[in-house]
Amino acid sequence: MPAVLQAQVADIADGYRSTLILNLITLTVCLFILHIQNEAGWANFVWYAAAVVVVACRAYALNALNRRGKLLSAPQSSLTILSLGALASGVVWAALPWTVYDFEPLGSHAPLFLMMGGMAAGSVIKQIGYTPLALSYSIPILLSLMVNLIGNWRPNDVLVGLCLSLMIFVFIRRSIWAERMFVSSQVARHEATTLADSLTRANSDILRQNSRLEALANRDTLTGLANRMFFHGRLAGDIARAAVVKEQVALLIFDVERFQSINDTLGHSAGDALLREIANRLSSIVEDGSLIARLGGDEFAVVVSGPDALHRARTHAAAVLEASRRPIHWHQRQAVVGLSVGLAAYPDHADNAEELLACADMALYDAKRADRRQLREFDPDLRRNAERKRIIEQDLDRAIQTGAIGAWFQPQVDLTTRRITGFEALVRWQHPQLGFVSPPEIVNAARTVHLSEQLTASIARDACLLARRLPEFGLGDVTVALNVSPREFALYSVPCMLQRVTSAHGVAPSALEIEITEEAILDPALADDQLKRLEQDGYKLAVDDFGMGHSSLAYLIGLKVDRLKIDRSFVKDVARSETNQKLISAMVSLGQSLSLDIVVEGVETPEDAAILARLGCSIAQGYLFARPMPASALDTWITDHQPTALKRKTRAKHLSVA
Ligand code: C2E
Ligand code: CA
Ligand code: CA
Repeated sequence: MPAVLQAQVADIADGYRSTLILNLITLTVCLFILHIQNEAGWANFVWYAAAVVVVACRAYALNALNRRGKLLSAPQSSLTILSLGALASGVVWAALPWTVYDFEPLGSHAPLFLMMGGMAAGSVIKQIGYTPLALSYSIPILLSLMVNLIGNWRPNDVLVGLCLSLMIFVFIRRSIWAERMFVSSQVARHEATTLADSLTRANSDILRQNSRLEALANRDTLTGLANRMFFHGRLAGDIARAAVVKEQVALLIFDVERFQSINDTLGHSAGDALLREIANRLSSIVEDGSLIARLGGDEFAVVVSGPDALHRARTHAAAVLEASRRPIHWHQRQAVVGLSVGLAAYPDHADNAEELLACADMALYDAKRADRRQLREFDPDLRRNAERKRIIEQDLDRAIQTGAIGAWFQPQVDLTTRRITGFEALVRWQHPQLGFVSPPEIVNAARTVHLSEQLTASIARDACLLARRLPEFGLGDVTVALNVSPREFALYSVPCMLQRVTSAHGVAPSALEIEITEEAILDPALADDQLKRLEQDGYKLAVDDFGMGHSSLAYLIGLKVDRLKIDRSFVKDVARSETNQKLISAMVSLGQSLSLDIVVEGVETPEDAAILARLGCSIAQGYLFARPMPASALDTWITDHQPTALKRKTRAKHLSVA
């Protein structure tokens, strides 16, 4: 294992220099002892010189290995070189007895004997990391002493020599054992270090994964912007900070117009490319550290905090709207998408994050409704409207079921004879809290909460109840009209619903007239089949608000519409407007050439009525004749308006009593 070899080299190298110095000292001491005993001769000097050279070479070798980094990179060969050095030293020490005349290890040369034995023992004790090195040094010394002792052939010497041979054996064994211990401790240490390393690595891996997960949890993967969760946290944090430092926090919410249709018609990858480009544009415009987030779908938000927050938010919104006029390109295609923007500010409009978001949403909703592709700032009216809308939606179902919502009826009369020719059913709701709720509010709320069918069915029911009673007044040929908004055709089958209601009340379809706006006719795909079926079933059809859109003439002819109802805007003040007179005259001729009755709505003055009659309009509806009224008020109105009807009704009663 290279790591263990490196540890062995380190153990040897550590203290190698002090060993060499100790060697030099002991060598010198030996020479000095010989000198004191007057025994130092040329052989001893040669020996000393050789020993010093060996020590110098060993020192040089250690330095060279260290300098070249060999101790770490080539531990095995370093150990071999250092061991050879030790062997050389050992051999020089072993040669000492032969340089001394009549060497007596247990006699006068006992100090030398002790020095040599000490050096050999010290080597084994000190160099436990690598046995060959310790033994290369000590074995030659001990062998030399043993040979000298036994060679003296004196009993004491021989005995000590034999003990020495035993010691050599013990030295070798202990040395091998010590090295084994050293190696196993190094292996254990290495394993512990490796384990610690891998734990550290695992730890940093976990930390990296954690930060990746954190990024995933906070980022929107498609655009790289902050996601909704991060946005909420930041908005709440910014508001808390702003509360302390008394600053504003402005919130912008952007919505991409027609995104759904782009997604549906061009595919999701086009939709994704578009969202990414919008995110890029936002990022390149909003560069003041404000948070940009994608809230989901096609909704983006920017949280602007710090000094001048509201002003900076307005500037951002204007720049983003300006940039949105540039077409967006992808795969050789391009599209211009409109953005609507809502803006609200803390503490001006709301005092917490949730409310601020709701305010910005209301402003956005208003911007979208107006289709202005503009910035709309929150104002308290929006909150009141939204609250009103919420209450209407919440109470609608109950109101339909309890009959709080129902139809009022407005009569239609023949302009020349003033005879009653029909009634239009108009939805009415007097809300206990909100007061009068307008028909468009009711119709829109019904669509939002998926109650359109129930709402129209309840009006149709009221219309049937009236239609059933009309023959009593001698008005059996009079129709009751009801309005069906164009989008309803996409939501449910109007003919099926009407079939259910009319048959439940025993009313013939010909007693009802269905008023549809031009919009329904403009989009034949929407209502085509249903309109044809209504016509086949025998309902009368009227085109409401005629003149406001662009009805297809061909379609009008094909559909066999019975009536055109000219919109109130042409009728108002017609006596004083020559243009309106010309327009109505043109519409009347169109109606005549298609054999359609022309109904004028919103007739308020006798002058207007007179002009309209002169222009050829046959039927009229308006406050001049009657305002819409509840069914209960109709009896009186009919009898007042058409006295003959009363007579007929009384006679009918007499007849039925008889
Ligand atoms: P519309 O179908 O054009 O209905 C005529 C509207 O003009 C009614 O308003 C009526 O009250 C009003 N009006 C009638 N004569 C005069 C007049 O001389 N002067 C003035 N200024 N106004 C007059 P209303 O009832 O508020 O209805 C508004 C619209 O709501 C209706 O316009 C119709 O489009 C829709 N609507 C009403 N009831 C229903 C319904 O049951 N279902 C659906 N889908 N829409 C309805
Ligand atoms: Ca109408
Ligand atoms: Ca109308």
